[in-house]
Amino acid sequence: MRAIDKHLALCHTCGKLSRVSSGHTLLCPRCHNPVHLRDPFALSRAWAFTISALVAFIPANFYPIMTVVQIDKTIPSTIMAGVIDLAKNDMLPIAIVVFIASVAVPVFKLVGIIFLLLTVQRAKPINASQATRMYRFIDLIGRWSMLDLFVIAILVTLVSFGKLANIEANIGATAFGAVVVLTLLAAESFDPRLIWDLQDKHKND
Ligand SMILES: [Zn+2]
Repeated sequence: MRAIDKHLALCHTCGKLSRVSSGHTLLCPRCHNPVHLRDPFALSRAWAFTISALVAFIPANFYPIMTVVQIDKTIPSTIMAGVIDLAKNDMLPIAIVVFIASVAVPVFKLVGIIFLLLTVQRAKPINASQATRMYRFIDLIGRWSMLDLFVIAILVTLVSFGKLANIEANIGATAFGAVVVLTLLAAESFDPRLIWDLQDKHKND
């Protein structure tokens, strides 16, 4: 049994339990804020964050994330160029970590969220436990993308101490940070209960 079947919803503001008819918005009798069974804007919010993340993903990968300034030359470096550089300089394990954190994870996350959003929106039949596991996984791995920003931060610090060269963070790093935050927000806005609503709907049909 679900709260939605009994038309029960919690007030997001004060937590009071109220009876709401489906598709309607009720004002909480205690704090007068709107109460609904499902947030009517959850999907559009998740789409907005996902599309913004997709847009930011382009400069994050094609603009340099940092510039290495050496005595005689400055070398701007994109994420992929950095990965290739690390691999060439016998730092394959670090290259793999950077590749997973900054390319594989964001791509997997965006594809996963878009898949969930499309499934829910088109009301396609769904294996709800599998989809929920996928959602949990997306939510979990997103945090690890931040690892890449730490790698840049550590590199900048190490190099500044070494005085060998200078590293400046570039526009690509800002865009990359935006991708990480926006995908986190997209996953956060998606309501996994919609997956179960969908499974129940197909069961009842
Ligand atoms: Zn309330």
